[in-house]
Amino acid sequence: MSAKPRKILVTSALPYANGSIHLGHLVEYIQTDIWSRFQRMSGNECHYVCADDTHGTPIMLRAEQEGITPEALIERVHNEHLTDFKDFDIAFDNYYSTNSNENRELSQTIYKQLKANGLIDIRTIEQLYDPQKEMFLPDRFVKGTCPKCKAEDQYGDSCEVCGATYSPTELINPYSAVSGATPIMKESEHHFFKLGKCEKFLKQWLLESGDKAPLQAEATNKVSEWFESGLKDWDISRDAPYFGFEIPDAPGKYFYVWLDAPIGYIASFKNLCDKKGLDFDSYWKPDSNAEVYHFIGKDILYFHALFWPATLKFSGYRTPTKVCVHGFLTVNGQKMSKSRGTFIMARTYLNHLRPDYLRYYFAAKLSDRIEDIDLNMDDFVARVNSNLVGKYINIASRSAGFIKKRYDNKLSSELDAAGQTMLKTIQAKQTDIASLYEARQFSEAMREIMALADIANEYVDETKPWLLAKEEGQEENLHRICTSIVNAFRLLTIYLKPVLPPLTRQVEDFLNIMPLTWADAESFLLDHEIKPYKHMITRIEQKQIDALLAESAETLKAQQPSPAHYDEQQQNEKDMQMIDSIDDTIPFDDFAKVDLRIARIVKADHVEGADKLLQLTLDIGEEKTRNVFAGIKSAYAPEDLEGKLTVMVANLAPRKMRFGISEGMVLAAGPGGKALWILEPHEGAQPGMKVK
Ligand SMILES: [Zn+2]
Repeated sequence: MSAKPRKILVTSALPYANGSIHLGHLVEYIQTDIWSRFQRMSGNECHYVCADDTHGTPIMLRAEQEGITPEALIERVHNEHLTDFKDFDIAFDNYYSTNSNENRELSQTIYKQLKANGLIDIRTIEQLYDPQKEMFLPDRFVKGTCPKCKAEDQYGDSCEVCGATYSPTELINPYSAVSGATPIMKESEHHFFKLGKCEKFLKQWLLESGDKAPLQAEATNKVSEWFESGLKDWDISRDAPYFGFEIPDAPGKYFYVWLDAPIGYIASFKNLCDKKGLDFDSYWKPDSNAEVYHFIGKDILYFHALFWPATLKFSGYRTPTKVCVHGFLTVNGQKMSKSRGTFIMARTYLNHLRPDYLRYYFAAKLSDRIEDIDLNMDDFVARVNSNLVGKYINIASRSAGFIKKRYDNKLSSELDAAGQTMLKTIQAKQTDIASLYEARQFSEAMREIMALADIANEYVDETKPWLLAKEEGQEENLHRICTSIVNAFRLLTIYLKPVLPPLTRQVEDFLNIMPLTWADAESFLLDHEIKPYKHMITRIEQKQIDALLAESAETLKAQQPSPAHYDEQQQNEKDMQMIDSIDDTIPFDDFAKVDLRIARIVKADHVEGADKLLQLTLDIGEEKTRNVFAGIKSAYAPEDLEGKLTVMVANLAPRKMRFGISEGMVLAAGPGGKALWILEPHEGAQPGMKVK
């Protein structure tokens, strides 16, 4: 551990103030929160700030629709967001609003600086205008017939039917989505930020920083493509009526929401500094020795890798230390879908399940890379039940009863020799796990921690406290062993603390201790009175998931789709879709644990009541055949499979499903639906042969 505390400022992207927080958003807030909590418990000075992003046409129109002021709308949404974040234990040091005095002042001074540096240009452009509503129309508020495929009612920037992108002026029979009027072309003066003039600095900062590169390699590649296609000037103004900040010396012109939104990071921090007496300049001046980390989704990389650092650099601020980019969330392998009930709001989730479960699952999936992560509901239930409940919490419940009954809730003043060895093994991983948290390789950290939980459980299995309890003269030995077990549980709790705040609070209460810090893993808890063990968490039941998805589908039926956030966003999302990379390297031994066998599909059947599964009867050379449920119904008819050979995982723990027990898994490739192909060996392979 470094001796001198680091000064760290962390942000998550600002959620837009016209909709509710959903699980897709939470990937980012949970990722950022885990990282910030790890920094704080390691003794660093870490501030995590965020705010609602409140400006722009969608907010203005939504408020109008509801018959309230934009201020009233954003206040209501602010409270809703705050409650959701609090209940997911997202520990912001400040959660502010971009519609603040700090932000107005900062946006205006930054703009003036850019202008003084010759980076602002004023040009007249022609844009579609709604003559009835008397407003210029953002691309997403113009609809019409797709110029390519002639599909009706398509947005002004892209067609959802054929995928074509175009300019709103190319639409056939365009109409305003606000009033229905036919838009006309109208001239207006716009303010542009001359991004092209910042190219030299940006290239240096992004591509030539070596070890200190502010972006992950995949993101740097993407940015290089943008450099190749040339940096375009950025239109930073919008005409009235607009909900936002007026541009100084330009009445009737407002800053485009994307100019003042990232400045909202600084404004929120400024507000925190004023409340807490922190030194603002030591974080934001160019000579700052503090670190600044922005966590963002891949859809807003362009803004954070190009516009934002250029804005900072040329208005007298420091640039970020790192921009940490993550992918999107899919549910059950597909885009979140309202009709399938997999577009899950934060609140709906909380109505059914503990926040720790999702935090743990996301941690078990998140890495420092940009690929999308999948919330697979079956896997979610299995991992939470087997890892959190079966492995981790189980350790406490296996020893706490004895401590209470026999030793009056007191831990021994000594450990047994084997226990000490086991605990040293767990302690020895402290630095490794810290490095994984620091590098945002949370999935790897969770794997390490669960491997340590296995070691603790093996120790319990070997020492068998429940047998010792029945033997004469084992009182002291049993006491020491139970104390070792409680200590193993305490160490694992320290390692999991950034991920599981509510559960950690329960554990700290049970152990009767002060909030755990990272350095606490260097010591043991001995000769100490704990509290009687109370049940802490329960397994997830399938019926809870069913109820969650059902409520989700129900809630969304009542809601209208929310207008698009930003016009530029859509294209960036498309640009980033192709990113997908190879998983972490594993040692050969890990691979060797998987027992793959050639299997003959003796029989394949439909499963009554299951729309995705086929039931396979597999011969792998054992006396009895295996029963396996495979989610391949979308791509195969049972009769196509019978008699064929394939490859199965033969040593996968049997899984109880609604339709029976699945005793393994067959291997298949492809994204799903019709695009799914099961593996088939070349001729000559025989059932039961090992694949290696
Ligand atoms: Zn089309």
